[in-house]
Amino acid sequence: MTDPKICGIPFKDFLIRVEEFHGYRSPGILLGGIMIEEALEQLGSTPYLNVVVETIVCLPDAVQLLTPCTIGNGFLQILDWGKFALTAYDRETLSGVRVWLNFEAMADYPLIRNWFERSNANRQKPVFEEISKEILAAASNLLVYRPVHLQRALKNSQRMPTGLCPKCGESYPLDHGPACPACQGNAYYAY
Ligand SMILES: [Zn+2]
Repeated sequence: MTDPKICGIPFKDFLIRVEEFHGYRSPGILLGGIMIEEALEQLGSTPYLNVVVETIVCLPDAVQLLTPCTIGNGFLQILDWGKFALTAYDRETLSGVRVWLNFEAMADYPLIRNWFERSNANRQKPVFEEISKEILAAASNLLVYRPVHLQRALKNSQRMPTGLCPKCGESYPLDHGPACPACQGNAYYAY
């Protein structure tokens, strides 16, 4: 394999960016990068790119690393479904491409399959240098994609009026009810 690229970034540079952003080299980010590359290639020019990922692990970071879509700008949506799949779409036309992993194709790639199934007997993490070779060799063979149309844009563009919570005095969006979420019993902290 000579000089592979992920979304146009030379593999070595990609790995440095992964370490900087994600903290360590992970097979999921690499696979995610290949999925994003496929999705964007199939989608073509997309001035108003949004991405939905269907798992909270790895894929959100791959999207933020490789596209302008982030959690904070609202163009990345994260569903906690535990599915290694994503959809890239244009938020104006709602047309997109969904990409997921081809489980049957994994039969030819034991390291990837073990990683995906989390099934290796001693639950050791795969050695990145080894599994990344399989991922780069397999590349788009591992992927399935289909055009999709979104039922609705997933970015919440409505601006909800805010007010002060009668209990804690902090500002919150009024659609949560008569008190802020924390004062309604959902606080994750205690003073
Ligand atoms: Zn409150």
